[in-house]
Amino acid sequence: MRIEQYIENKKRKQDGPICAYLYDLGQLRNHVRIIKSSLPAFCRLFYAVKANPDPRILGTLAPLVDGFEVASGGELEKVKSPVLFGAPAKKQVEIEKAIDAGVEAMNIESFHDLNRIEWLSKQKEVVTPIMIRVNLSRDVPESHHMMSGVPTQFGVDERDVPMIIQKAQQMSHVSVEGFHFHAMSNNLKAEAHLQFVSMCLEKAKSWRDRFGLDIRTVDVGGGIGINYWNPEDKFDWDTFASGLHKLEPQMDGLTLVLELGRFMTAASGSYVTEVIDVKANHDHHFALIRGGTHHLRLPAAWKMSHPFRIHPVEEWELPYERPGVTKAEVTIAGELCTPNDVLVKSEYVEELRAGDVVIFDYAGAYAWTISHHEFLSHPEPEFIYLDEKH
Ligand SMILES: *Cc1c(COP(=O)(O)O)cnc(C)c1O
Repeated sequence: MRIEQYIENKKRKQDGPICAYLYDLGQLRNHVRIIKSSLPAFCRLFYAVKANPDPRILGTLAPLVDGFEVASGGELEKVKSPVLFGAPAKKQVEIEKAIDAGVEAMNIESFHDLNRIEWLSKQKEVVTPIMIRVNLSRDVPESHHMMSGVPTQFGVDERDVPMIIQKAQQMSHVSVEGFHFHAMSNNLKAEAHLQFVSMCLEKAKSWRDRFGLDIRTVDVGGGIGINYWNPEDKFDWDTFASGLHKLEPQMDGLTLVLELGRFMTAASGSYVTEVIDVKANHDHHFALIRGGTHHLRLPAAWKMSHPFRIHPVEEWELPYERPGVTKAEVTIAGELCTPNDVLVKSEYVEELRAGDVVIFDYAGAYAWTISHHEFLSHPEPEFIYLDEKH
């Protein structure tokens, strides 16, 4: 079943107003297979669960990826191994749960983190594999959210890395397995991402050599982006993958871990809603939809217009005038009583009328789960899973 078919069925049954998330699991499966098969053998592909923890998405990904990256006890419960656990503000119960689950490695985000993990591992008489999450000193170019190179709550300051390595080396219940460098967000440039990966690799090797570490893994996190402003002009995955192959001589037997979130699932989800009203106000056109930023907060959070397309519905059987707008700029707003409930700001449309359906693509990551569902107590959207088997 396709999105258009779903809309036609709902309209035929007069089962509206339409408001749904549609996840295309067939698309997801194909996309991830292509990503995975393009990677060199020294790369492992992990999925960052926070991008979309929907159980059907996790189930679709499980046989295709090398593992999951989780950042809370709740996420840990949703996936099977292999798992990498990293989170700022880890609670004792989460650390214990992660140790008991036998995670492949745990991120160390501070000296206190290191002390706690050593102590709890000692209580449990285990040695916990750790990765030191580094907050790089230099700014990372091309990143949408600054997570490194500027003061943030994430990771260990690069200048403190030698000290934390030495502390870890004196401990008996942690073993340093590698370094973790998640520092990019929504990067759209393959060349910049390759430079970042190469820089991480060199830094990890220099600490390895200086301190005689027996590390295995260099984890470069996620951060490969989606071009919401111009979806045709995508991150060039082929350039990135072939650039990774060229790193082979630099790898020295190390494994490179990618933890992709947004790039993995964003294109598999669409948020589909019906226009309830269209009007003009202070010379601006507004279309009001069923739903809004309490279902899809991403455009409001990033102060952008979310990419959209219109599915026109010709039927109008009501005895009064159908409101609409033609050949004009329109702002698409939701059903909440706040001026911030805007998904599209002044974009040109050929025509948009009450009863038409707006499709917001690229809503498969950081969409439903980052939204404030309870605000205004409107019903939740439907969740529909499209799947053309294999
Ligand atoms: C959020 C996150 C990711 C995924 O980031 P994307 O930008 O969605 O690819 C990977 N690793 C860590 C540690 C994260 O916090």
